[in-house]
Amino acid sequence: MKKLIGNEHIKKILQTKSGSRSFLIEGCTGSGRHTLLDILIMSRICEVKGLSPCGACGACRRYESGNCVDIVYVDATLPVSEFRKVLSSAAEYPKKERYKFYVLDNCDDMKVQNQNALLKNLEEPLDFVYFVLICVTKESLLKTVVSRCTVLSMKPIQDNEIKKYLTDKYGAENTEALAYAVANCGGFLGKAKNLYENHREYSDKRYSEFVEALISENTAGMFRAVSFDGKKREDFNEFVNILLSRIKNILICVGYGKDDSGLSPEEKEVMSLGEKRIKNIYNALVKTKQGIKYNVNIPLWSVYIVKECLKKI
Ligand SMILES: [Zn+2]
Repeated sequence: MKKLIGNEHIKKILQTKSGSRSFLIEGCTGSGRHTLLDILIMSRICEVKGLSPCGACGACRRYESGNCVDIVYVDATLPVSEFRKVLSSAAEYPKKERYKFYVLDNCDDMKVQNQNALLKNLEEPLDFVYFVLICVTKESLLKTVVSRCTVLSMKPIQDNEIKKYLTDKYGAENTEALAYAVANCGGFLGKAKNLYENHREYSDKRYSEFVEALISENTAGMFRAVSFDGKKREDFNEFVNILLSRIKNILICVGYGKDDSGLSPEEKEVMSLGEKRIKNIYNALVKTKQGIKYNVNIPLWSVYIVKECLKKI
């Protein structure tokens, strides 16, 4: 249950309406619908009696390793005759677990005939079967279907909870990516993770391009790597932060003879520029980091960085 961040209203429902056999999980992509699905299934099949799944018993482990034979994933878009056939097996007892589950993902695309076929199962639930429907919005389903399900609507999570989750998972040093992900995820954790990872990947790519250009003294390449749209101040900030922390690593290896096994092949080549030059680059980046707070003229700072990087001292 701990895996589900926020969404206290859902935890409350899961702990009180234990008699329900049909659930409808509603929420956008990245809102934690599948985390909730896992919790829902495991809390029912877990061999240890408690409100939260134990995660350690045979049933929990079978489910987590994808070896639970009593979970049937139904394609909601199947032609109605095939759809009925799949559902007809719901009358059979579970093979291994206490309960069997029929999981219907992407229900927003479910045809009306299929919804009507499903309705019969929802109306007369057998006490060893659960149905879990997953959709973006319940509005895309027939009211009769929705009314027979316990609806679990995923709600946005507080910014501070998202920030804490990302910091625990990825560390706190990439402050720009963190801020970017929190500000743009709309309160949904899955989306926040995607945004964070893409953002970091993007900055890493820029960094690699810059270092390659630096080694070959390719001025145009360096400018390409540092050129940011004037509006993307946060991206530039993050790029400078990354550059600063990596150049600092290289400087420590050169200046203090620290083991350089953590450096990339390109970074090892940067070492050959010598301590003085690397120190000058480092100082220029420190100055940029401080200066950008007062003067957000990114092109100006880009020219400054490239110039200092090429300075032969
Ligand atoms: Zn268990």
